[in-house]
Order: sequence, then structure tokens, then C-alpha cells
Amino acid sequence: MSIPLHISGNSSVHDFYCATECTWCDGCGDYGIMAAAKRAMVELGIAPHDVCLAFDIGCHGNMSDKMLGYRFHGLHGRVLPLAAGMKLANPKLPVIAFGGDGASFSEGVNHLVHSIRSHYPITFILHNNANYGLTTGQASSLTWQNQPMNTSPNGIPEDTMRPMEFVFSLGPTFVARTWSGDIKQMTRVMKAAIQHRGFAFVDVLQACPTYNKFASHQWLLEKCYDVSDEGHDPSDLEAAKKIAFDTSERVSCGILYQTEDVPHFIERLVPRKDVKTTPVEETKITDVSALMKRFV
Ligand code: SF4
Repeated sequence: MSIPLHISGNSSVHDFYCATECTWCDGCGDYGIMAAAKRAMVELGIAPHDVCLAFDIGCHGNMSDKMLGYRFHGLHGRVLPLAAGMKLANPKLPVIAFGGDGASFSEGVNHLVHSIRSHYPITFILHNNANYGLTTGQASSLTWQNQPMNTSPNGIPEDTMRPMEFVFSLGPTFVARTWSGDIKQMTRVMKAAIQHRGFAFVDVLQACPTYNKFASHQWLLEKCYDVSDEGHDPSDLEAAKKIAFDTSERVSCGILYQTEDVPHFIERLVPRKDVKTTPVEETKITDVSALMKRFV
């Protein structure tokens, strides 16, 4: 990109420590996801003052007061436009957005569509626990068929959305899947996502022992495998789709697809070509008091 990231080059996990009490349930996958996110940033030399972290409403969103960084906690399903705005304002900052499956594949699904097709250079971590946990276990559009949930005790009448088919239909440049019990794998995937040239979609299958009884930690442990152990080439789009879509026997995890050949949103902005400053740096304090008096 034309404006390089501003990264301190040195940090520790302790730098991200926040004393706010954790309110997640025992065994919640959010603990592992937060640990991996911190490790990924530390291993990339990112300090809390180097990064913008965006959250929306959901159990995952409570991470916004459990980890230091420039943090914004936005409206339900609106984390991606929030993150995109941060990045456009200051392209020097790494921007990481965290969202749940309920918000991202229902209320905010339009933002997911347009973030992928816009190639915003941001990282999106999907906390995919296949239900609305914060509001006590209602079915989301990713809840499996025939699963009794609060407000749908007989299972959902709708079809379950297939997130990988949906995402791949939008022309992504980075697609990964990982799961909340494998901190090492999550860390590796998140590091690659943060360093990716454009929009990075990371689907984290997240254990929610309180409300998701079908994709438990044990189930994920038995089903998930790492595609890098089987020689998968992430530049092979058709192979990526094949292993991403077929989860009947095993669930493929790791970096499924990546291409660096597609310019991202800011690189496509003709008026910003060769501009070395950021919109934040170009913003001047303007005295509008005389103007405002005209409306009094
Ligand atoms: Fe985690 Fe589920 Fe509890 Fe929410 S309801 S804190 S996702 S275990």
C-alpha cells in the first residue's frame, strides 16, 4: 500500500492486559480468541497504541473492555462500516473488527457483502458460535437445522445459511477458518490476516457451552483439521472452495484461500494516488463559530 503501517515493533501480552472483570461463561471460546488476538499482535510487534479494535453487540463485543488498544464498541451488526471508516481515516493503523455470526449474517449481512467486494484493507474476525449468546441462545442464521434453541424449541423453519459458500461468492482475497480451542492455529491465521493486503475474513468456530450444545469444544476438537498439514495450496481457488464447502466428515481449518494480486480499496482511490499523508493528518481545526451565529 502507498502508506505503510505504523507499528512500534515491540510489545508484550501484558501490554494489552485490562483489569476489567471477565463476564464470559466458563469454557467460552471468547477467552481463546482474545488470547490468540493478543498473541498475533505481539508477534507482529503491534502495541496497543498502534491498533484500532472495533466491536459490535454480542458476547464477543464485551472484549472491548477486556483488552487494551484504541477500542470502539458500535451498534449491532455495524462493526464493518465502523472499521472501514477508521481505516479510511488513518490507513497507517492496523484495524481489526470483531463480530458475531448473528449480527454479521443477519442484521449486518449487507455490510459483510460490501466490505468484501470493496476490498477494505481490514481484518474481520467472525466469532461464529451459531447462536445469539448474549440474548440467551436464540437461533441465528447459522444455527444448525433441528437444533432446539430458545424461541425455536422445535428447530428453525428456515434453511441454515452456508457462510463459506456465501463469502466465496463475493470474490474474497483472504478466507480462513479456525476454531476457538486451537490458540496456536488461531494466532498463525490472525497474523496472516492482519498482514494481508486487502479484506481478510477469518471464520472462528467458537465454542459456546451455555447455548450451543451441537458444535461443542469436543466436537470441534474431533472434526477440525489443519489444511497446512495436508499440503493445501491457498492460492488454488477451486481447491479452497472444495475443502471449505464440504464439512460433512471433517472441517478444514487454516488459511483456505489467499491472493495478494487484487488492489485494495484505498489503492483504487484515484484522488489518493501518491498522497503520503492521511485524512486524519490533513484535517485542520476550523473555527466555525462565525458560521454558527448565522443560524442562532
Ligand atoms: Fe460465551 Fe456462549 Fe456464554 Fe456468550 S453465552 S459468554 S458466547 S459461552
